[in-house]
Amino acid sequence: MIVTRFAPSPNGPLHLGHAYSAIVAHDLAAVAGGEFLLRVEDIDAERSRPELAESYRADLAWLGLGWKEVPAQSTRLAQYSAAAERLKAMGLLYPCTCTRAEIALAATQTGPEGPVYPGTCRHNQPDSTTGAAWRLDVRAALALTGPLYWTDMVAGTQRASPETGGDVVLVRKEAPASYHLAATLDDAADGVTLVTRGLDLFSATHIHRLLQGLLDLPVPQWHHHPLLVDESGTKLAKRRGSASLADRRLAGDDGLTLAAEIREGSFPAGIFLQ
Ligand code: GLU
Repeated sequence: MIVTRFAPSPNGPLHLGHAYSAIVAHDLAAVAGGEFLLRVEDIDAERSRPELAESYRADLAWLGLGWKEVPAQSTRLAQYSAAAERLKAMGLLYPCTCTRAEIALAATQTGPEGPVYPGTCRHNQPDSTTGAAWRLDVRAALALTGPLYWTDMVAGTQRASPETGGDVVLVRKEAPASYHLAATLDDAADGVTLVTRGLDLFSATHIHRLLQGLLDLPVPQWHHHPLLVDESGTKLAKRRGSASLADRRLAGDDGLTLAAEIREGSFPAGIFLQ
């Protein structure tokens, strides 16, 4: 059975780009008689506003989507810690106290997500840990797994190349997991078979595939969809573009009509799929 998911982080209202993403994931499951899941990605306690989750549910219902909700990330912290401990026991994580500014200064390469961490703390002892984040030694991890592959339904088979982004943070200073570790574990726990999300997360999938190899997790397929952008090619962010879905819903707009327009690819003037 095909299982897809929509996994918003509750740090702002949903907008048109989210509606598009949710509809793509919902419809990919629906055409195959599969299941569409909602997961609230509230691992970032500082930025998360729990009250938004209720508004997200109302938005999805307004768009005419049905879903099954799976546990939010804040309820799964023990599982994340257990996985991190396993990776530490394998000797693949090291503590890092570098600040963003230090990394920007020391970096000599730019990867898909900005300055590539140059490995400054790679030889730190695992016991020098107070106030540290924990990074994955990506080269050591790849040496252990050997070459890995993953399949995007649109772009085809990819050889996993997580090394282009450098040693990513898996355990944050203030949380037991980063997005990469939490989302990978959640997709496995939720039985997701087709991870559907925007093209902006394409490079993250190389890391997720590596984590699946290290932690013996099932390997799903992926569908990275184009993003809704404005005239300057900028992704519709939470403060840009059209009104939030909640604003439109509360103003009495018809969500089913909006969903039909999205399915037809008809977007407001100045907003494009890219
Ligand atoms: N929580 C992420 C976001 O809101 C999406 C993560 C994913 O789909 O893997 O951007």
